[in-house]
Order: sequence, then structure tokens, then C-alpha cells
Amino acid sequence: MKVDEGVALSRFTTLGTGGPSRAFARPESLAELAEVLAWAGERELPVATIGLGSNLLVADKGFEGLVVKLGGDLAEASVEGERLLAGGGAANAVCLHRVRAAGLGGFEFACAIPGTIGGGVWMNAGAYGSDWATILERAQVVDSGGARWLTPDELGLSYRHSELRHGQVVARAEFGLAPLPEEQIKANVARLQALRKAAQPTNKRTFGSVFKNPEHELSAGRMLEACGLKGHRIGGAQISPRHANFIENAGEACSADAVALMAEARRRALEQFGVELRHEVEFLGHLELPPLE
Ligand SMILES: Cc1cc2nc3c(=O)[nH]c(=O)nc-3n(C[C@H](O)[C@H](O)[C@H](O)COP(=O)(O)OP(=O)(O)OC[C@H]3O[C@@H](n4cnc5c(N)ncnc54)[C@H](O)[C@@H]3O)c2cc1C
Repeated sequence: MKVDEGVALSRFTTLGTGGPSRAFARPESLAELAEVLAWAGERELPVATIGLGSNLLVADKGFEGLVVKLGGDLAEASVEGERLLAGGGAANAVCLHRVRAAGLGGFEFACAIPGTIGGGVWMNAGAYGSDWATILERAQVVDSGGARWLTPDELGLSYRHSELRHGQVVARAEFGLAPLPEEQIKANVARLQALRKAAQPTNKRTFGSVFKNPEHELSAGRMLEACGLKGHRIGGAQISPRHANFIENAGEACSADAVALMAEARRRALEQFGVELRHEVEFLGHLELPPLE
């Protein structure tokens, strides 16, 4: 199994920022995955998995460990009866295509989520009132100790959260869906995509929602909009003029620019609303938000 060194992670994030990983591997089967995890274990290197990098902010200095990107069998998707069987590296778009062709509904909400099955499990990704926990039956998690199948409860899925930790790789997942005519699925997807297009930046380099919605009458986006932050720019990163809970790479942004914007947004939300916003985007490498005073 080939392991590369010093691979630029900016190529693998939708924001297009981030430094190199010390090591990078693309296992295509469970056996190869076990092999690279053992390789990292022997060298005491931390391991992180990357999907489509659509919810990931990687430190400009990179990640001093092994980054795993699943391919081959571990990025395939198929349908068996009323179940979607997918590799952790399978793109949601591919899975949606498979289930639509098989006349299975329940996965349409994922049309708005440009990630992979494994990233979705890690994040308990969701939209429009549904999320991974709603349809996930079990996920196969592999770490240096071997492989085991875990249920949504065992994964600790809640709002944009799981109990998974780096070093645990979602290799495969199985979802329970229900029969729905293909035309109805297409109509549902078209409706959700139109809603998305009307409200969020869809053709910009972003990593999706920056902050989780707080327990407040205002969403994080509405709150930051009320703070006057739409269009606010630091370096090459700017708060989307379209939706204030998105950060866009408006030029030559680096991750430090995005972190500085996030720090400013949190400061203003605390000042104006007394709310401490928590970030939804995942950090990889050494990245820290300054404490709120
Ligand atoms: C335009 C846009 C719109 C978005 N809209 C939504 C939305 O509506 N709802 C929503 O929930 N999210 C949304 N997102 C965020 C993002 O798409 C989701 O969180 C997605 O599930 C991340 O998947 P990924 O494969 O890209 O994961 P990555 O961003 O690559 O990784 C995210 C986290 O998951 C971990 N991870 C990834 N794959 C695995 C694996 N196989 N095993 C173990 N850990 C893994 C990573 O280590 C990291 O901690 C949006 C993003 C963009 C850019």
C-alpha cells in the first residue's frame, strides 16, 4: 500500500485552503485500510480521514499525521432490497443516484450536502428536517483495534455530532430507505435544490455552515447578519454576502483568515446577543479560536 508524503490538503477541501499532511494514503479495501492504520500505528502517527473536505478547515501548517482518503470498494455504493450499502468514501451524489434509480426515497435531503457517507456519519449531516441518524442502520468503524459495526446510538449521533474520534474510520454504512417512485424523488430533489439556491451561496468555495445553530430564536446566520457581518472580509476570506453563516474563499484565502473571521463573528454574537457560537466546521491540524472574554 503506497503512502505519500507532504501532500497539499488544500486540493482536498472545498474552501481550498490548508497545508500538507505528513503522510497520505488512499486505501481501496478493508485490508488496505488495516494496513495503513498499522503503518501509522508503528510510527505513532495520528490518523484522520478526509471525505470531500466539505466541512473541513485544515491548518495552514498542515497536519502532522496520516490522512486517509477512502477509494475503490470503500467508495462504492449499491442497493440491496430497500437498503443502501455504501463505502465511507462514497459521495452522497453517487448514493442519491443509486437510490433514485432503484426507486428508494428518504435520502433526498442529502442532495444539498456535498460530502461523503463517512463524513455524513461523523457529522450526523442533515438538512430539511432529516439527518443521517434518521436513516442510518449501522456503520462499520475501523481503527487500529479492528473493525466493528455500530448503530446510530452507539455512534452517539445528535445534532451535527457523533462520538467518533480521529483514528476511527467509517469504512462502510447501511441505510434503511422506503420505496418511492423515481419521479417523486426527482421532484423532491428539485424542490430542495431550489430552496438551497435561493438561500445560500452555491457556486462559491465554502465549507458549509460555519457555526451550529444556537438555542435561540435566531439562527447563527440571522444572528451574524444582524451583527452587520455580511460581506465582512479578512484577508482573502469573507462572510458570504448571501448567507452570514458561510465563509467564502474570495481570493487567496488561507485558513488563518477564516479563523480570524470566525473569531470576529463569535465576539460580535456574544456582544450583541450574549450567545457563544460553537463551530460546526471541523478543524484538522493545530487551529484554535481565541477564548471569548
Ligand atoms: C455548499 C455546502 C453546503 C452544505 N450543506 C450542508 C447541509 O445542508 N447539512 C450538513 O449537515 N452539512 C452541510 N455541509 C457540510 C458538509 O457537506 C457535511 O458536513 C458533510 O457531511 C461532510 O462530508 P465530507 O465527506 O466532505 O467530510 P469532510 O469535510 O472531509 O470531513 C468532515 C469530518 O468528518 C471526518 N470524516 C470524513 N470522512 C470520514 C470517514 N470515512 N470516517 C471517519 N471520519 C470521517 C473528517 O475527519 C472530519 O472530521 C455543506 C457544505 C457545503 C460546502
